[in-house]
Amino acid sequence: MEVAFDATFDEQRKRFSFCFTCEHCAHFDTDSGECLHGFPNHMHRLSYYEHTPPPRTILFCKDFDLG
Ligand code: SF4
Repeated sequence: MEVAFDATFDEQRKRFSFCFTCEHCAHFDTDSGECLHGFPNHMHRLSYYEHTPPPRTILFCKDFDLG
């Protein structure tokens, strides 16, 4: 699911420690930085949302499983 990324979301995700990226997913390989399912995960990584300038959209992974 892809939705707009804005300053409000960015402030709230930090304030509430919202977990939605690969780094918090049970299917993430911390050694390789890849998804264990083989999904392309560039847009699901935390670094994508902490980049300057920030992205214009959030791409939530349908297979996210809190690890
Ligand atoms: S399932 Fe989705 S959120 Fe989890 S590691 Fe793979 S790409 Fe990332």
